[in-house]
Amino acid sequence: MHVEELDRNYLFHPMTNLAAHAENGPHMTIVEGHGATVTDRAGRDYLDAMAGLWCVNVGYAHPEMAEALREQALKLPYFHAFSSMGTDLPARLSERLINMAPVPMSKVFYGNSGSDANDTQAKLVWYYNNVLGRPMKKKIIARRRGYHGVTVLSGGLTGLKNLHDGFDLPLPMIRHIRPPHGLWEREPGQTDDEFATTLAIELDRFIVNEGPETVAALIAEPVMAAGGVIVPPDTYFPKIQEVLDKYDVLLIADEVVNGFGRLGVSFGSVSTNMKPDLMTVAKGITSAYVPLSAVLVSDKVWQVLLDGSAKYGSFGHGYTYSAHPLAAAAAMTNLDIIERDGLVDRVAENGKLLHELLHTAFADHPNVGEIRGRGLMAAVEFVESREPLRPFAQQGAFAGAVTRAALENGVITRALPAADTVSFSPPFVTTPDELERMVAGVRAGLDHAVGELR
Ligand code: PLP
Repeated sequence: MHVEELDRNYLFHPMTNLAAHAENGPHMTIVEGHGATVTDRAGRDYLDAMAGLWCVNVGYAHPEMAEALREQALKLPYFHAFSSMGTDLPARLSERLINMAPVPMSKVFYGNSGSDANDTQAKLVWYYNNVLGRPMKKKIIARRRGYHGVTVLSGGLTGLKNLHDGFDLPLPMIRHIRPPHGLWEREPGQTDDEFATTLAIELDRFIVNEGPETVAALIAEPVMAAGGVIVPPDTYFPKIQEVLDKYDVLLIADEVVNGFGRLGVSFGSVSTNMKPDLMTVAKGITSAYVPLSAVLVSDKVWQVLLDGSAKYGSFGHGYTYSAHPLAAAAAMTNLDIIERDGLVDRVAENGKLLHELLHTAFADHPNVGEIRGRGLMAAVEFVESREPLRPFAQQGAFAGAVTRAALENGVITRALPAADTVSFSPPFVTTPDELERMVAGVRAGLDHAVGELR
């Protein structure tokens, strides 16, 4: 049997229309990748403008990553970290992450995915409030369009309806508020700062309405990724943070996409003036060569967790793969490569080029509502009409058509779920010439999609 047939018969695909897959099998089968290019079974090359799912930051098939994994697998592929058992590389990686963190942090807890790390965040926040004797303070606020994962808890934090439908999510202690998405949420004529003030006042009212004694934390991506690459106004997080401080509500920064250089600076929190109590990282920590996530815990939270030992004994949370030595080896080498090759500066430089290219290619088009992003993370949002501003009636269909046509042109981009938006998040090693070809491929995809509309 062909692999495509095995796939169709036996592989239960994530985030996939199950009936369509059962009928048609895989859309394509990727067999190789090098740098910013992946190759399908037919031998056709595609420029991957999404670095997989916003994650293969050092590019595909980096020889040093392969060597680091081989070496560690031959030395110590695995040992656990339960009951105070230690291994070398996770300890070294933890020190490195604490030293890199954009705000003072104290401890690192490891998981395997962004989703499980955000579940860990919720458990830490609940444990924290239980230790402090505040059993009512358990609600977690997230933002509509935010993406925080798919597990039972984090799937509810994610503010996208299609991740809730059919799954009885979100869980009852989760709340959602408006995102800082200027295109649709801002009042006409409002400045960035006024928009930020409006959202902060709304949050204040929201917390008062819920009862501040019941609200434990707010989770936010500095720059939203899957929800549409939404960059907040510069004063948004400082104003939000003032409200959180007023009601003793913790701030969790979900840096799963932004972290380790995607925005042309070390972390999204730096780029957006955020001072989190807790941080989630994943994806770019290993450039996705091996699954790894981490939760960074500030001293303020850590001191309370420590007090929990007297009350609860051993901390009853952890995964078989927490602090996995092979994953830590991948992370250490990945961070070495990013540092040594000056990849964050390269992201800043090539990010400017990407935004120039996008503006030149898309800004004047009547179906382009907004071009936005920062560093090597960008999006183009499509609208049916610019004046008056009106979305397409069937949300997502147009961006889907652009994406399919771009693929025909040899460029992989992504139509994002909550908007008619295509996104760009290429590997940090993408060359200027490759960026030009990515933008050109998607621009030609737009022409094709417009042709289909007629
Ligand atoms: N947080 C953010 C910001 C993400 O973009 C994602 C995944 O795309 C997650 C969390 C969940 O990560 P994972 O898919 O590794 O569970």
